[in-house]
Amino acid sequence: MTTIRNGHANGSNGHAKKQLDVVVVGGGLVGSLEALFLARRGHRVRLYEYREDIRNTPQARGRSINLALSVRGRQALKSVGLEHHMIQEHGIPMRGRRIHKLDGSTYVIPYDANSKQCIYSVGRNYLNCQLLEESEKYGNVERFFHHKLVDAQLSKGSLTFQKTDTKEIVQVTADLVIGADGAFSGVRKAMMKQPLFDYSQKYIEHGYLELCIPADENDGFQMPANFLHIWPRGEFMMIALPNQDCSWTVTLFMPFTNFKRLDTPEKLIAFFEKYFPDSIPLIGKNKLIEDFFAGSPSPLVAVKCRPYHVEDKALLIGDAAHAVVPFYGQGMNAGFEDCTLLDQLFQKHNDNLADILTEFSNTRWEDTFAISDLAMYNYIEMRDLVTRPTYRLRKAIDDFIYWLLPRVWVPLYNSVTFTTMPYHKCVKNREWQDKVLKKISTIGLLAALGGAAVAIKLNYFA
Ligand SMILES: Cc1cc2nc3c(=O)[nH]c(=O)nc-3n(C[C@H](O)[C@H](O)[C@H](O)COP(=O)(O)OP(=O)(O)OC[C@H]3O[C@@H](n4cnc5c(N)ncnc54)[C@H](O)[C@@H]3O)c2cc1C
Repeated sequence: MTTIRNGHANGSNGHAKKQLDVVVVGGGLVGSLEALFLARRGHRVRLYEYREDIRNTPQARGRSINLALSVRGRQALKSVGLEHHMIQEHGIPMRGRRIHKLDGSTYVIPYDANSKQCIYSVGRNYLNCQLLEESEKYGNVERFFHHKLVDAQLSKGSLTFQKTDTKEIVQVTADLVIGADGAFSGVRKAMMKQPLFDYSQKYIEHGYLELCIPADENDGFQMPANFLHIWPRGEFMMIALPNQDCSWTVTLFMPFTNFKRLDTPEKLIAFFEKYFPDSIPLIGKNKLIEDFFAGSPSPLVAVKCRPYHVEDKALLIGDAAHAVVPFYGQGMNAGFEDCTLLDQLFQKHNDNLADILTEFSNTRWEDTFAISDLAMYNYIEMRDLVTRPTYRLRKAIDDFIYWLLPRVWVPLYNSVTFTTMPYHKCVKNREWQDKVLKKISTIGLLAALGGAAVAIKLNYFA
């Protein structure tokens, strides 16, 4: 058994400020970004990751291979010097939803008709590799792969890992433990033993399965690249995001019961011919059958919990604190925003952990609960509402007022995706807009009724 103790040292600036010894559990997107933020503040960081170093791993099947990066995520990447590269050299801009109708025709709903802001499709593995690679620049960051967290005494800052290759047990202590170990977090499991820790999880009845539209024979895109393509079909939907190699990651979201029914190649093809006919030549019949039956649909879980911390010793961030269903494209963005907010609190409280963790817990939950609910709602919008005239009318009204009064009227999607307005304020903002529109339509209706009554009366006495 190996025991690694925490060590204290003066900050690199020579002041008597204590260098904190931080262990980050989970070297996924959020954990590796948080390691960078902490390293930049001069703290000692040890990053423990269950899997092997992703930089040596070929693309893992079954994980979504690209993600939509928006303003909250970009802001965090900017702080660690990676935004420009991820946006300018890697990301593929997506300027709106391109809706595929049953007959194969398409139309575009822009994300931001006025200021033309867009989201970016980025490779999950690529981004994770960039974050880990960046951490190599900091002498105060150490990375330990093949280490699985198996036990934790959080109030003592004490963790037990098991090496997945040699099975050796490793004991670690730290001033601060950050749990960034994803939706099924072991750090959170340990936190659940604390009194007054609230926790809930919700599996939706729908799962997802990933397919692929390959690049065309000239290594180009088979569909217009700068869009998030959606095949909304009411109870279920398919989406596609562009990849850097001109292929598309296609994700089919559907109730598990529907997946179960597609148990032969014939049934699968008949289903696609009925609901997604234009996608068959793009994917290729054989490839569709091969990819569909090679995997099985994955579940989607949303987790809410609070508080996120234990005393001045442990904190949850990212999916470990707030896994959300993926329909707003905000899971990673919200996790990255955690890192930005935490960094601001380190600054505000001059590295005083008790104050930092308490304030993070007390303020962040309201926003993460809000984005969790919004993400659930957005599934209905994407798979069903986008095709309805009422949705398009509301979007046209929103876009018009936003154009007229850009500082006053920011539509919900824009506030979530293109601003850093706290998520719960985005919801309040929408409620206020709903009330205004309701009042306007009531006044309009009353005026129309009044006008009609006057007209009838005048006609009557004429
Ligand atoms: C289909 C799908 C599409 C998505 N699309 C988007 C999108 O477009 N935009 C967006 O913003 N978000 C999206 N998300 C959400 C996004 O993937 C997550 O929010 C993000 O990956 C969370 O990052 P994380 O680092 O907190 O957790 P993870 O990415 O899950 O990383 C956790 C890490 O912890 C490690 N770990 C776990 N247990 C242990 C242990 N016991 N010991 C040591 N290490 C451990 C894991 O190996 C992993 O590396 C999507 C999610 C899904 C499922």
